[in-house]
Amino acid sequence: MRTLITNGTLIDGLGNPPRENVTVAIEDHLISEVIHRRAPYYDRGAPVIDARGGFVLPGLVNHHVHGLTRGPLMIVGEPPLPDARVKANLDRLLTQGVTTALNVDGFATVEEAVASSRFHPVTVKVSTLHTPTHLRWATEGPFPFGGVRERHRWTVEKMLERGAPAIGEAGPGVDAHWPDYTLIPEALAGRYGVRVTVEQARELRFAAEKADRGRVGALLEEHGIGRGETDAFFELHEATLEWRRLARESLEEAVAAAKGFSEPLILHHTPGTFEVVAQAAEELGERVIAGHSNFQIWDPDEASRRAKELRRRGALVDIMSGDAFSTCEFHPTPDVTFRLLSDGLVDLISTDYAGGFWDPMLLVVEKAHEAGAITLEEGVRLATSAPADAVPRLAPDRGRIVPGAVADVVVTQPGRLSGVRAVFVSGRRVELPERDW
Ligand SMILES: [Zn+2]
Repeated sequence: MRTLITNGTLIDGLGNPPRENVTVAIEDHLISEVIHRRAPYYDRGAPVIDARGGFVLPGLVNHHVHGLTRGPLMIVGEPPLPDARVKANLDRLLTQGVTTALNVDGFATVEEAVASSRFHPVTVKVSTLHTPTHLRWATEGPFPFGGVRERHRWTVEKMLERGAPAIGEAGPGVDAHWPDYTLIPEALAGRYGVRVTVEQARELRFAAEKADRGRVGALLEEHGIGRGETDAFFELHEATLEWRRLARESLEEAVAAAKGFSEPLILHHTPGTFEVVAQAAEELGERVIAGHSNFQIWDPDEASRRAKELRRRGALVDIMSGDAFSTCEFHPTPDVTFRLLSDGLVDLISTDYAGGFWDPMLLVVEKAHEAGAITLEEGVRLATSAPADAVPRLAPDRGRIVPGAVADVVVTQPGRLSGVRAVFVSGRRVELPERDW
């Protein structure tokens, strides 16, 4: 079958400037020609899609996202999401122009990725964290979340052999993100039926770290738990420290595995894990992907300095799309994101999860372009050919509009990069789900 996408403004994914009046010809599942004319006369192609001057770009390659399989959620191994939510997450990606996604929860198996790809047009792959210490941490550590089951007890070797293209996401347990967001709130909810916010959990943790019994007691009283539980809270705090220590051991094991197998390593990068990421970069160079380098950091100067340092050691710097243009839970402003982009320090863009409410990568590129932080073609490159090259087995022959590449193609509304109008996967136009979010 020959399909023509006529009258488009081509952004090829390789960083070349946009080119108007272009026709992209697709032969079966491959791009066969890029024709620098608005439409080729007497061409037998059918169907014909009139791009109406909209952008024609490669399907996005999202190398860092969560919650796309029936496997354990997040790298702490939470129980899987319901099928309907997995589908909603995949729908969200597809409507945002993503055609290949790497689920970096870590414990899901290759078979679970295959299952997701069977019921959705987005190609789903999974990374691996199946090292012995990680499995032990998730199942027998102080906070087993219950999502990692017998059937997830694969090895890194088996995962890589069967198609996992990377190791990761390694390192979240190391910084204080999880105790504040998950461990402390969940434990208090389970024990006392009391819901504390992230900020309240953080306050309790700070007080416990200073061994300030009076303050811990006062806070517990404030939250309706009572001073009598002060000792119990200190025990909980101790358990979080032990959990983080085990996480650190697991992380070192992941770095060793990446080294041993010569595979890309996706690391959870925040100020709390910076030293570990820097050290891994020293050893592994560009095999290290410093994930979401715009996360949990509010000072643009500081973020820029750290990214530069990681670059100097050869790591690839990734940013997450965040939620600065919608819910603002994780990113109150796009300042850090724009600064890293305008300093030319970003190698890759992904969505990560942002609690399930991530902004579209194309929207971030569009807004960054409006702010003068980056060109559209460079922004698109960071979400297409760059991740395809950084993680070679994730999206082979994809992420670029050139003859011979797989025809994963996005067509947008005229002049609006984030206005996704049509998506092709392996040369076939797929139906876009209703945007009901
Ligand atoms: Zn992540």
